[in-house]
Amino acid sequence: MNRCPLCHADTAGRGSLHFASSCKAMQRLVIWRHDHINRGVYKFALDGGNDSHLEPQLASESDVPDLVIHFPGEDLFLDVSVTDPSCPSYAQGASDPNNPGNAARQRAQLKENRYLQKARELGASFSPFVMEMFGAFDKNAMEVVKKLVSSLIQWGVPEQPSDIMRRVVCGLAIRMHWGTAKIVNEAMCRAQRKILGIVLEDRRRQRTRGQGNGRFTR
Ligand SMILES: [Zn+2]
Repeated sequence: MNRCPLCHADTAGRGSLHFASSCKAMQRLVIWRHDHINRGVYKFALDGGNDSHLEPQLASESDVPDLVIHFPGEDLFLDVSVTDPSCPSYAQGASDPNNPGNAARQRAQLKENRYLQKARELGASFSPFVMEMFGAFDKNAMEVVKKLVSSLIQWGVPEQPSDIMRRVVCGLAIRMHWGTAKIVNEAMCRAQRKILGIVLEDRRRQRTRGQGNGRFTR
């Protein structure tokens, strides 16, 4: 059994993939990746002339959507998430190479079950915005992307529609991959420090103790 040096979970031989999706020690950066994608969708919505709000406060709801976009004639609530199709906790078939996007579809269905009715009760529509960690967009996410692109075109952005589509898709995919790279890089650094017995201390505390400007202690 291979155990994660950070959270001690059984990594089931998944190596760095464990860090990027299910390591409990990396949850702060997993949330950062989520927020980074959410802000990307928000930015494209604003650029297309749509009033939008990140994590809006709803008077009577405990489940707050990640983002609401006020498209013409439609208030769209979004829930952004990233799935790892290689994660063994997914139902069988999620990582079936002959049926790509299964993990994203399963996550999207869970989100719809949880939020769709609540959104309708508030007079809004709802869409999950699920990306797989290897780059696939769920079909609901692609529908949102098409709406963003349509807004940008109608707003008069001076680019060809195909170029706008490429910019939105690549922009969001880069945010997701950059977030994953940031998680894995940080986890590898932490794991190496742990194996070597290096303790990274706050520099202010070190100065207070009169230990000079060194960053590491053993
Ligand atoms: Zn872990």
